[in-house]
Amino acid sequence: MRDPRYNILFEPVRIGPVTARNRFYQVPHCNGMGHAMPEAHAAMREMKAEGGWAVVSTEECEIHPSGDVSPYVEARLWDDQDIPALSLMCERVHAHGALAAIELTHNGPTSSNLYSREVAIAPSHQPLKYGYPHQARAMTLHDIREYRRWHRDAALRAKRAGFDIIYIYAAHDLSLAMHFLQSRRNKRTDEYGGTLENRVRLLRELIEDTKDAVGDKCAVAVRFATEEFQGADGVTESEAKEIVHLLADLPDLWDVNIAAWYMDSQTSRFAREGYQEPFTHWVKQITRKPVVGVGRFTSPDTMVSQIRRGVLDFIGAARPSIADPFLPKKIEEGRGDDIRECIGCNICVTGDMTITPIRCTQNPTMGEEWRKGWHPERIETKRSDRKVLIVGAGPSGLEAARALGQRGYEVHLAEADRELGGRVTREARLPGLAEWARVRDWRVSQINKMSNVAIYRENRLTADDILGFEAPRVVLATGCHWRRDGYGRTNGSGIAGLEGPNVFTPDDIMRGVVPEGPVLLFDDDYFYMGSVLAEVLRAAGREVIYVTPDDAVASWTAYTHEFRHIQKRLRKLGVRLVTSHNLKSFGPEGALLSCVYTDGTQQVPCASVLTITARLPNDELQQSLLASEAQWRDAGIETVTAIGDSLAPGLIAHAVYSGHRYAQEFDSEREGEVAFRRRGWRIAEGE
Ligand code: ADP
Ligand code: SF4
Repeated sequence: MRDPRYNILFEPVRIGPVTARNRFYQVPHCNGMGHAMPEAHAAMREMKAEGGWAVVSTEECEIHPSGDVSPYVEARLWDDQDIPALSLMCERVHAHGALAAIELTHNGPTSSNLYSREVAIAPSHQPLKYGYPHQARAMTLHDIREYRRWHRDAALRAKRAGFDIIYIYAAHDLSLAMHFLQSRRNKRTDEYGGTLENRVRLLRELIEDTKDAVGDKCAVAVRFATEEFQGADGVTESEAKEIVHLLADLPDLWDVNIAAWYMDSQTSRFAREGYQEPFTHWVKQITRKPVVGVGRFTSPDTMVSQIRRGVLDFIGAARPSIADPFLPKKIEEGRGDDIRECIGCNICVTGDMTITPIRCTQNPTMGEEWRKGWHPERIETKRSDRKVLIVGAGPSGLEAARALGQRGYEVHLAEADRELGGRVTREARLPGLAEWARVRDWRVSQINKMSNVAIYRENRLTADDILGFEAPRVVLATGCHWRRDGYGRTNGSGIAGLEGPNVFTPDDIMRGVVPEGPVLLFDDDYFYMGSVLAEVLRAAGREVIYVTPDDAVASWTAYTHEFRHIQKRLRKLGVRLVTSHNLKSFGPEGALLSCVYTDGTQQVPCASVLTITARLPNDELQQSLLASEAQWRDAGIETVTAIGDSLAPGLIAHAVYSGHRYAQEFDSEREGEVAFRRRGWRIAEGE
């Protein structure tokens, strides 16, 4: 039964000529599948519609080859050939009673045109944003008319494809409609430049063109960035207010957020649920049209408060809908505690950034809906009465236990520690990472509802214990540990002096050990751990010298949108950053560093070294079980399988996926096979 307090979330809302069945709105989000994998894309979007979202949107959709964003793979509507792929999504979304929305865009100077080889266009002559060594040319008045025609044609195609809501995109510093608003990009002296009225002209015309073309059947939405954090060079709050005043009731819906994307989709390390409210709350006071906004909303109480306080009309979500496509259904059915809450890690974003299908830490089925036929809520029931023993209750062990339990198997989960969660429990205690504990909490709460899954805490199992357990299937999810010897990407033979005292690993710091300062932190890992531990050490008052062989600190965090936030934070904390340097040795005089390009050395005085280089699986148990393989048969053991970090250390997302995959394939012919559907779409008739 639904909690009546949440009834307001299920009120229908009119958007121009269409009506959304409730207030849950999946705003546009990238997914790394786009036009290249339409079947996979449609199946992923379908899941959201089935899960109760009233509106399900595409990602940004290119309208013309001169706005080609390759190598990124987004939606595409250059001509009629692109219609069938998008119709597929509309059919799937409509089948579950949701509205389909499409975010049309021409990215102007934020395109690449690497594929189309067209010359990029912009309000004025300027370099392309993403470092490609060529420029966009200034649009003539003829070009502006052409651009309006392309946009109108794309809107008509979108209508034919079956979309109910057509966006004009003026957000994220990613589209011409926004570029014309920005004084730093728009240096025109004609009627499209200079005064704000002139800079808004194109956006107004696009709204009018789109309404004229498709407004009889389709709602026309504007996605708009209310703050760019660029001072007078960008859209500021005061200018944004004037823009919304100028256009107020012209669009059928305002979808508002902050720019650029790395500010919009901030991780939980840098922003809390509802973090956009201070920048977007005023929009509803200016327009009478419905407003959707985002803020990584996962709590129904926060959602209700947004509506009741008049901040938003729709609860917009990208990440919460990725982590749990069934979030609305769960609230509707009074199962709020079943919501798989987003942890704000942005591994989903890395799909788009690395041009590969989206994945999610919390939802291992994300991106596998079509390819592997996985469903976020349903899983095949058990095929046998085989009992399973899982050793280790980190993310991989917990997910394997939960999903096998959901299938109906008898599962026994043994954990050496008193606390469950393994690395998630340890890492969630680090600064800014508290929400990561949701990976553990959701799984434990689901398991606690199952009578067929038993958890044994403070049970460190040995090979003999396992042989005596009489479980035909044994799963080792024993995790991994950080290396101390410096071996890693840069040093194939370890580092001299690290076998001595005052050398620490992330495991030591997570156990509460605080090394003597100054501490030389050697990061050959390049992801989040180095910067997080630098924060821990600074909070403990230690001087930190952060050394990395890479050319930038925490370079992989560029894919999670954290890179800039991390650079800022480390500098503010007074961490000394030394890039492009390797650690050669450590001794009583300190550390010897060498430049990765010149081999030039420098001695850096320090009392301790913290190495963040590589990890090793905790595979002792596996080794001793393998040594006693002759006894397996008598012990009734059929298979012993390592999963998660004990197979190969990786992200928490990898561990969860590994556990889920084990459970999905258990007792099936697919077990351990590399098998998934590969064809995305028939390119031409008859093919
Ligand atoms: P993963 O990320 O693959 O899930 P973790 O390191 O997070 O791995 O979790 C591994 C868990 O396994 C830890 O909680 C650890 O205490 C537990 N563990 C390791 N060895 C044993 C063992 N022999 N018996 C029971 N639990 C174990
Ligand atoms: Fe949330 Fe992380 Fe999943 Fe993205 S990958 S939806 S941030 S849990």
